[in-house]
Amino acid sequence: MKDLPGLVQFPLGRSLIIDPETIVDELKVRIHHFDPTLAPPGKTLITINLPTYNYPYWEQLQTSELVRYQSEKMRISKALIEALELRFGGIAEKVEMIDVATPSTFTHFTNSWKGSFEGWLMTPETGFMNLPHSLPRLKGFFMCGQWVAVGGGLPRVMLSGRETAQLICHADRRQFVTHAAVHDQEQMAETP
Ligand SMILES: Cc1cc2nc3c(=O)[nH]c(=O)nc-3n(C[C@H](O)[C@H](O)[C@H](O)COP(=O)(O)OP(=O)(O)OC[C@H]3O[C@@H](n4cnc5c(N)ncnc54)[C@H](O)[C@@H]3O)c2cc1C
Repeated sequence: MKDLPGLVQFPLGRSLIIDPETIVDELKVRIHHFDPTLAPPGKTLITINLPTYNYPYWEQLQTSELVRYQSEKMRISKALIEALELRFGGIAEKVEMIDVATPSTFTHFTNSWKGSFEGWLMTPETGFMNLPHSLPRLKGFFMCGQWVAVGGGLPRVMLSGRETAQLICHADRRQFVTHAAVHDQEQMAETP
């Protein structure tokens, strides 16, 4: 797959049913051939993110119908391999490892709310809106992270940590002072 770009998006010939509420008509395929740490030499890892908001369905399957849960994961992975085979060819017989994560998997490993992989979705109304980092009448409480930073994800979460440090400094009547990371300082010192 080394001649392909890192991200390929293409329409599916046949719609793929993910769960009773979710159908997808196109795939976004991330080909990690640029990262040799993810697969042994001569092999590569492919990831495909499929959207679903149907958390109750996946949770119910995982907790009460484990056999069906596994077979549904298998069905989807088979359909994806078929789609990749149709689009790129020469893939199906070469697949060595498959891992299917559902919203229930995300909850299992990260305890994230309803299996969401980031926090609040950004909408045209919210933009990068900031939510309060403290609670009324709860003195000394500060919160950072994806549930107070619309847009979710690591960049927003790190920024919210910085903002929280700023708020704590303000509450403590201390000046908020930042320093370049040690690594950056070393690099700056080395630059003639
Ligand atoms: C599968 C997956 C893929 C993702 N991919 C991306 C991506 O490609 N790009 C991106 O930007 N973002 C991605 N995200 C989102 C990103 O990981 C999260 O938005 C981010 O980690 C949230 O940071 P946080 O600090 O709010 O929470 P967390 O990272 O969940 O940190 C909370 C911490 O608090 C700890 N904790 C919980 N309860 C307690 C307690 N009672 N006492 C002490 N400690 C406690 C937890 O153990 C955890 O370490 C992904 C998330 C998932 C699940």
